[in-house]
Amino acid sequence: MSANNYDAIVIGAGHNGLVTAAYLAKAGIKTLVVEANDRPGGAAVTREFAPGFRTSAVAHLLHALHPRVIRDLGLEGHGLRATQHRVGTTALIPGGPRIDLTGDAAATAASIGKVSPADAEAYPRVMARLVRLSSALGDFLLRTPPSPLAGANDFQTKLALGMFALKLRMLGKKDMLELSRILTINVADLATDFFESDAIKGLLALEATLGVYLGPRSPNTVFNLLYRLSSFGKNGLGGFYLPTGGMGSVVDALVKAATAAGATIRTGAPVERLLIEKEIATGVVLKSGEEIRAPIVASSADPQRTLLHLVPPGNLDIEFSKRIRHLRMNGCVAKIHLALDGLPDALKSSGGRVVVAPGIDHVERAFDCAKYGRVSDKPALEIVIPTLSDPSLAPAGKQVLSILYQYAPYRLRATPPDQARAQVFERGLDLLEQAAPGTRRLVRAAETLTPHDLETQFGLSGGQWHQGEVTLDQVFFLRPAASFQRYRMPIPGLWLCGAGAHPGGNVSGAAGANAAREILKDVKARKTRAAA
Ligand SMILES: Cc1cc2nc3c(=O)[nH]c(=O)nc-3n(C[C@H](O)[C@H](O)[C@H](O)COP(=O)(O)OP(=O)(O)OC[C@H]3O[C@@H](n4cnc5c(N)ncnc54)[C@H](O)[C@@H]3O)c2cc1C
Repeated sequence: MSANNYDAIVIGAGHNGLVTAAYLAKAGIKTLVVEANDRPGGAAVTREFAPGFRTSAVAHLLHALHPRVIRDLGLEGHGLRATQHRVGTTALIPGGPRIDLTGDAAATAASIGKVSPADAEAYPRVMARLVRLSSALGDFLLRTPPSPLAGANDFQTKLALGMFALKLRMLGKKDMLELSRILTINVADLATDFFESDAIKGLLALEATLGVYLGPRSPNTVFNLLYRLSSFGKNGLGGFYLPTGGMGSVVDALVKAATAAGATIRTGAPVERLLIEKEIATGVVLKSGEEIRAPIVASSADPQRTLLHLVPPGNLDIEFSKRIRHLRMNGCVAKIHLALDGLPDALKSSGGRVVVAPGIDHVERAFDCAKYGRVSDKPALEIVIPTLSDPSLAPAGKQVLSILYQYAPYRLRATPPDQARAQVFERGLDLLEQAAPGTRRLVRAAETLTPHDLETQFGLSGGQWHQGEVTLDQVFFLRPAASFQRYRMPIPGLWLCGAGAHPGGNVSGAAGANAAREILKDVKARKTRAAA
């Protein structure tokens, strides 16, 4: 085999691409990963944003990394310390009360009780039920979605579907009915059904809309909430964590796992196009003109980039191309990174994650701006303080804030990108100053990344969180398109292994692991056929 021939090429060294590469290499497949950027990680990276100050540049909270991926790839043996620093959530209402939600049930109830005794009683009960329902759905995160077409599923998929149906039934009649009732409704209705305080309702509104181009009164938002909560049961880490060293530490462990298994990783190696011969994918051509060949090409770049830009024109069915072109990819979250001389009092006493979403109407109005192509006048914010758990991310005595600003739409109607960036910074800081007075005077440096910046700097098309929104019409057997949910694309030899495939985004490794399993199944079937 020549140096430029491999068994498999993985496009993109985001965390999912690395997961796929590690599983393939462990199975003895000679695997090459080619990454456009000059470092691996995609949207899961730690980088310096001001001299001496580092933070997770895009994804900042670890909660969804699947325990089976950690185990299978021995990530702890490769240095991953995912669950050392669990964070609690503080909901701040500017000029109003605060609520601290921690791992301590009594303290949490006491904190909510100061705002609403009824919510203090309801919160643990309602959240436990939502986590139970989301866990039942979450059992499908690490499985390949079945085809809705009769006769199209193999025995294993049918068995998985049967087990899934059984688990749903085991929820019991009441929970089953509740799941059917809430799955397609909006989170504003759900929150109003169970809670009375703006602090809790606003918090739920943000949890349910973060990363999707929906407001709390949009249908489907409870589904997004359940998707997020699915990592709070056995299909994730069970809570929010700040990994030591930032999100880049997850990727460091994945790089070690993949290379220890024999994979080769090349950074600064953007793929220009796929090599397609006799309608079969046979490798890639890099921007440099270098050709690399392999019978398996798995792309962790998003579906639009992979299928509309890397696949040369004329190789895909028109209907399929149209479906991919119409995937909703409108990113709506910007990031602000602040280098601080210290922490204001309101943040010092927080649980490490702070949410400023003072009510459903606040979040809905923030979305109204985005609907008409404007940066929210008053955003909803999710703030984490990575230096609380890892002081080495800043010089001694200094602090870092990593802030998600919802909503800053990718598709702006009249605002030039530079103005949008300035608006995100000013409006974000204004709201933060109201919620945590004294923040502004502590800022010594800052970085603001709009969805446009996330696209150009991290290769996220549309700056979208999930490589394509996770809504009921774009999940499960419809992800990325009907009949192509099995990671296998219409061109033989081409597979999808990033968040654009089932089950979607978050730093979970699920799409990468599922794709590797399907590829290995195919390799085995070919070998069996060849031997027969
Ligand atoms: C603002 C924001 C905040 C988020 N916060 C969180 C969070 O707190 N927690 C969480 O769990 N998730 C979060 N997410 C979601 C999470 O970051 C992503 O869903 C996840 O990182 C996607 O991983 P991936 O490996 O599938 O894709 P990516 O990380 O996008 O990796 C794809 C890789 O492919 C490379 N690539 C693309 N084209 C080419 C090419 N032509 N040649 C070679 N390489 C190429 C890219 O450079 C990239 O490295 C957030 C997302 C956003 C946008």
